[in-house]
Amino acid sequence: MHNDQIDQFLWQTEQFADIRILRYRVEGFENLSIQQKTFAYYLYHAALAGRDIIYDQHFKYNLLIRKTLEAVIGHYHGDKSGSDWEEFMLFTKRVWFSNGIHHHNSMEKMKPGFTPEYLGKLIDGVPELHLPLIKDQSVEEFKSFLTDLLFDPAIAPKRVVQDHGTDLVAASACNFYENITQSEAELFYSKLVDTADDQPVSVGLNSKLIKKDGVIREKRYHIDGMYGKAIRKIVMWLEKAKPFAETELQRESIEKLVRFYETGNLRIFDDYSISWVKDTVPAIDFVNGFIEVYGDPLGYHGAWQSMLSIRDEAMSKRFGIISDMAAWFEEHSPIDKAFKRAEAEGVSYKIIQVLTQSGDNAPSSAIGVNLPNADWIRSTYGSKSVSLGNIEDAYDMASKSSGTIEEFYLPEQQDRVRQFGAIASKIHTGLHEVIGHGSGRILPGVGTPKETLKSYSNALEEARADLVALYFMTDPVLIEKGLIDDENVGKAEYDSYILNGMMRQLVRVEPGQQLEEAHMRNRQLIAQWVFEKGKTDAVIEQCTIYGKTFFKINDYQKLRVLFGALLTEVQRIKSTGDYEAGRDLVETYGVKVDKDLHIEVLERWNKLGIAPFAGFIQPMLQADMQEQTIHDVRVNYPDDFTTQMMYYAHHYANLPVIND
Ligand SMILES: [Zn+2]
Repeated sequence: MHNDQIDQFLWQTEQFADIRILRYRVEGFENLSIQQKTFAYYLYHAALAGRDIIYDQHFKYNLLIRKTLEAVIGHYHGDKSGSDWEEFMLFTKRVWFSNGIHHHNSMEKMKPGFTPEYLGKLIDGVPELHLPLIKDQSVEEFKSFLTDLLFDPAIAPKRVVQDHGTDLVAASACNFYENITQSEAELFYSKLVDTADDQPVSVGLNSKLIKKDGVIREKRYHIDGMYGKAIRKIVMWLEKAKPFAETELQRESIEKLVRFYETGNLRIFDDYSISWVKDTVPAIDFVNGFIEVYGDPLGYHGAWQSMLSIRDEAMSKRFGIISDMAAWFEEHSPIDKAFKRAEAEGVSYKIIQVLTQSGDNAPSSAIGVNLPNADWIRSTYGSKSVSLGNIEDAYDMASKSSGTIEEFYLPEQQDRVRQFGAIASKIHTGLHEVIGHGSGRILPGVGTPKETLKSYSNALEEARADLVALYFMTDPVLIEKGLIDDENVGKAEYDSYILNGMMRQLVRVEPGQQLEEAHMRNRQLIAQWVFEKGKTDAVIEQCTIYGKTFFKINDYQKLRVLFGALLTEVQRIKSTGDYEAGRDLVETYGVKVDKDLHIEVLERWNKLGIAPFAGFIQPMLQADMQEQTIHDVRVNYPDDFTTQMMYYAHHYANLPVIND
């Protein structure tokens, strides 16, 4: 792409509530062969085909609610203007952004800014055939049912509850359990887990756990089971894509994925994952399945997602140094020898250009991904680690002139972060994904982190990966090997990490709330721990200038040693499954919010007028067809969030409103 194209590209299209809507570009698609483009085109549809699933997984009535909101936008013939209508549209956009009625980050149910009466008026103005009425329901019953769901604060108040001491399953609104208590669920899965099996399947990954007539059983997601209608469509597109696969191994892994979707058999899913992780040759790669378990308070059930990408060849070459040196990093890690991986298994690393994302990872997106998740596959076959290069670039381009650097960094830190911040964050992501998640081992006989560390396992795993990245970020080896050419890169990352963990990330938290999300807990845990342990040496100084709080790092080397010490402890906790120590670490440092500092940060942030969260409009693939054959595929860049959401609703609504 030429520079003038970058300058003219619209990176941000709108801002509403606490959200910015951004766009990202795809570099290099036009250089692919027609076979590759065709392959990508079918996988693109396979990605969007499963989109409805995440709504239902987040909450049993999300599809009903979403389809009602969309029916109003599409078919309400009354006045579509005024403040009530604006509030209606605002709420609808927030639902689209979060894939449901719970805030994507805080997990709290979002409050509509319009009244139940206004909602009733809108519904009355929609022809009945367009309303997603449940069988035998009258419009009046439907309206009162919907009103309760949206306006009663006692119904489904929170999607995922993590508070220590409550029944996490009963209190969470997510749709992974029904009529089940936490202890029933834990007992059910503890019986399923075979501790003698050194190749254990990820129990619960593709199912919902229900109790009916006193019997507890799993409802599996597969072509003839739960979500079958959407899965059937996904399979159809995968079958179309298969002949165009780039390698034999890729074709084989698609076949296995199809068989998994057909049977719901988790052994086949592991088998698929192994083929997938071995297959590092193709330029086009994709994930399509039930993957991350953060949406389940107990961490068993996988949220559906898809990500389709092409490799960024030039960037992958430069950053390949990180994975080439995996064994060196493992050897030089400060963790106990007993917890080290004997041979760092092939972690393949690449920078990708995302083509589309769907489900759990859209519109809000991660910037790095490391899969598969099964520990035994990772330690036997390695893992694939990717940085989402064009997503990172879009964040960077959209935030360049936002004023946050001037507001939150000390004057002496500002130039450094402007000059080195972007590359520092890319290297942090690379180290986090490749070396961080890929390193260390669990002692034989100790269960998986999910079993031993329970609801703290995600925050602790993210902390471990971040600590590995932070520890090596200032290692001279990065300069020796030519990955970076200035020690200020590491310093810029330390400045930014401490600032974020101590303070800046609080802009994403409502006043009075504590930290819930695993990544946020992990960042504060690390920052507060090193701040406290370095106090006597004044490693990090909290200073107040004209009433504003700043964090100044006085000794970067000592800070590195502290990161190493915490890494050693977190690795020990994971390797030995020390639940009490893990819980204490997270609860002491990673959950409680400093109220005064929180208020200050929100005030400073609000003055800047920037929404704290961002997500993306997805590029669109369009095929030039001539008599059933694809002659070319082009990437288009839609520029309106609402239009894209309505387009998806129209073309990819593959599930009924109730999925029992
Ligand atoms: Zn991570």
